[in-house]
Amino acid sequence: MREVPDFPQPGVVFRDFTPVLADPDALRAVVDALQDKIDDSTQVIAAIESRGFLLGAALGYGWRYGVVPLRKPGKLPVVADSVSYALEYGEASLELPADAIQPGQRVVVVDDVLATGGTAEAACTLVERAGGIVTGVSVVLEIQALGGRTRLAGRDVQALMTV
Ligand code: 5GP
Repeated sequence: MREVPDFPQPGVVFRDFTPVLADPDALRAVVDALQDKIDDSTQVIAAIESRGFLLGAALGYGWRYGVVPLRKPGKLPVVADSVSYALEYGEASLELPADAIQPGQRVVVVDDVLATGGTAEAACTLVERAGGIVTGVSVVLEIQALGGRTRLAGRDVQALMTV
């Protein structure tokens, strides 16, 4: 992953995941490693827009999970629920599509990076308000100093790499 200083705003060091996706061996290694840490009981991947979609779709196809995209506002035609939260750089919301998660389904939240944990926490809230059971949160990179793991205390947080 490439480090990009001052993106998307001054003072933020953005870890750019794009080169990993572009390398077929790296992509496969990352997806396989994510799968290795996913709880066996999991049925559904809740994939966070937008890089989580790429990982979630690969996991869903490879290991037969359903994939539910958790989207930024204004993208879904039928919204079941919405959660707003604070980001490292600003405010954001995440939306759950209608009829995507059934009560009792076991769901892992997938994204590329865990920073403050606000996004992953919002994702867990959406899953649980729909009646789903969060089996874990899986990310490629955890930025430890931003405290996401603390915010997600009590959840099974799996990160392939930590900085
Ligand atoms: P958080 O809510 O944990 O502060 O931020 C995580 C969300 O923002 C994830 O959806 C992630 O894709 C994005 N994000 C935050 N910081 C970075 C970063 O440095 N690199 C990448 N690739 N995504 C980031």
